[in-house]
Amino acid sequence: MNQTELTDMYASLGISNRVVRFAASVEEALKERFAQIDARAEYNQLKVLKAMQQNRVSDIHFAATTGYGYNDLGRDTLEQVYASCFHTEAALVRPQLMSGTHALHIALSGNLRPGDELLSPVGKPYDTLEEVIGIRESTGSLKEYGVSYRQADLLPDGSFDYEAVRKAINEKTKLVTIQRSRGYATRPTFSVGQIGELIAFIKGIKPEVICMVDNCYGEFVETAEPTDVGADMIVGSLIKNPGGGLAPIGGYIAGRKDCIDRAAYRLSAPGLGREVGASLGLNQSLYQGFFLAPTVVAGALKGAVFAANVYEKLGFSVHPNGSEERHDIIQAVTFGSPEGVIAFCQGIQAAAPVDSYVKPEPWDMPGYDSPVIMAAGAFVQGSSIELSADAPIRPPYSVFFQGGLTWYHAKLGILKSLQYLCDAGLVKDL
Ligand SMILES: *Cc1c(COP(=O)(O)O)cnc(C)c1O
Repeated sequence: MNQTELTDMYASLGISNRVVRFAASVEEALKERFAQIDARAEYNQLKVLKAMQQNRVSDIHFAATTGYGYNDLGRDTLEQVYASCFHTEAALVRPQLMSGTHALHIALSGNLRPGDELLSPVGKPYDTLEEVIGIRESTGSLKEYGVSYRQADLLPDGSFDYEAVRKAINEKTKLVTIQRSRGYATRPTFSVGQIGELIAFIKGIKPEVICMVDNCYGEFVETAEPTDVGADMIVGSLIKNPGGGLAPIGGYIAGRKDCIDRAAYRLSAPGLGREVGASLGLNQSLYQGFFLAPTVVAGALKGAVFAANVYEKLGFSVHPNGSEERHDIIQAVTFGSPEGVIAFCQGIQAAAPVDSYVKPEPWDMPGYDSPVIMAAGAFVQGSSIELSADAPIRPPYSVFFQGGLTWYHAKLGILKSLQYLCDAGLVKDL
């Protein structure tokens, strides 16, 4: 194949020569960066393979169970694979954990008792956790069950406020929740190393406190996970990184055996715990997705780095910036105008394998105080390891985007977004 063939192919998908050439120059400068991402993916691929081999994964593990799901060998072995990979005593990996929020809720409510206090040493947690905790009044919140909450905010530069954390720890503090990814906030994402330092500080003050990390969007971005640096539990969603795009549903909690057992008794029922929960024929997708996850995450990371560099070069503010080290797969780009974020999201949608002909528009979504636009042409509803973008229509008009099951799809999405911005006259000189 020569360069012309590729350019022609892009042209047939509506990408102009000018955009292809500009992208090629950006990509050329990212060779070293991409090689680093590939090297980490290689390491993580071996880590996953080793865990699968150690646990003697076999095709019998892909068989479906129904009903109670007693003796579901595939389910139990998959949990052992997660535990081996993340270097923990145990794991709960279930389609019955319906989302990241649900997994976090089960980990928290399983391990906290009335009179206990929950501490977030990294400021306000992810939106959906506000109702789980009771920061926003909500039926069934931890607050209703007599669990109090305290938080230590980050310093203005985004670093840990160790003095505030020290002051916030008291005789009631039972569990500390640390969110790794910035999510859709403006603070930085924490590296595994930084999380390790924070945990060591907290355990230095109160050794028996349970340290839980919300690991959403962080899995396989680095070669270590928070459980390698002292976390008692990590929690995440299978329609993000560790599901590798193949898991159609699910969440995981990996960590210390006593913590996982308490979570399991909360998920099913006291006395039942991990013994029940049919896998309904989903096991193969969960195994295969986990197997693919390191390369899928690498593709998503390349997309994020590429987008940061494309839009930074065009003068837009990007977060993280084009050269920063990454600790999750989320990329924010600030366009400064509603037209900018709308064109971007419509471009991402137009590049999708599913629903590419649909044109997303801003709408008044329940629970948000400004209209929101979302682009998602995904095989799995709401999957954000697949290429997706969303933006609230309000200043500073930033769009958050993440995912891409392959680097080539992520690249097409970004080229398409740039093409839409050019066509709308929002980008002049390429
Ligand atoms: C996505 C996410 C969650 C919640 O996951 P859902 O699957 O959307 O419920 C929690 N915390 C962080 C940091 C996330 O990115």
